[in-house]
Amino acid sequence: MTLPSTYADRNCSLARSLEIVGERWTLLIIRDVFFGVRRFGDFATQLKIPRAVLTNRLKFLVQEGVLIRDDDATGGVEYRLTAKGVGLWPVVRALMSWGDAFYSPSGVKRAERHDQDGGLLDHEGRCQDCGLAVPVPEIRIEPGPGFDRTDSDHDPVSVAINTPRRLLEPIMRPRTLSAAGEGERGATRAAERADSPA
Ligand SMILES: [Zn+2]
Repeated sequence: MTLPSTYADRNCSLARSLEIVGERWTLLIIRDVFFGVRRFGDFATQLKIPRAVLTNRLKFLVQEGVLIRDDDATGGVEYRLTAKGVGLWPVVRALMSWGDAFYSPSGVKRAERHDQDGGLLDHEGRCQDCGLAVPVPEIRIEPGPGFDRTDSDHDPVSVAINTPRRLLEPIMRPRTLSAAGEGERGATRAAERADSPA
């Protein structure tokens, strides 16, 4: 659903923010970028989002300066968060916590830890071990007690996302034909060159 482009209450920054991230799929795309997804084909696989919609969302997020669209080392295209985009982590965290609190009776679906000392983060992103307000790149995300493995996919991207990993760390895997989609530079070229794990 498209939100109206103007709001009666022009003094509400929530309304302004929702014009950027309030459309269906947008926050899920942003969540996946935090989890290390960078490529068009991987968003499509992971989210099962119609490709035309994904194209529109990515284009809009780049236009708004939330994502940057860049050539990767293998001649493909990848999307990364700008500083403005990284600023959305507390929003993603808060909505995940709210969902855990009211819709996940067996506990949090994903836990956040301080990568350096393994301390669990509280709702404000503070490490319960060392007390630090942990910067996004030092946050490790991992399946929590409410995580349902029977419900998770087994494609390489899902497996990577569901393994303990630091936020923003790119998911590396060989390129395949199916991973190249609209917005990429061509399946053949992409498939010829693989970016193997470092
Ligand atoms: Zn800590």
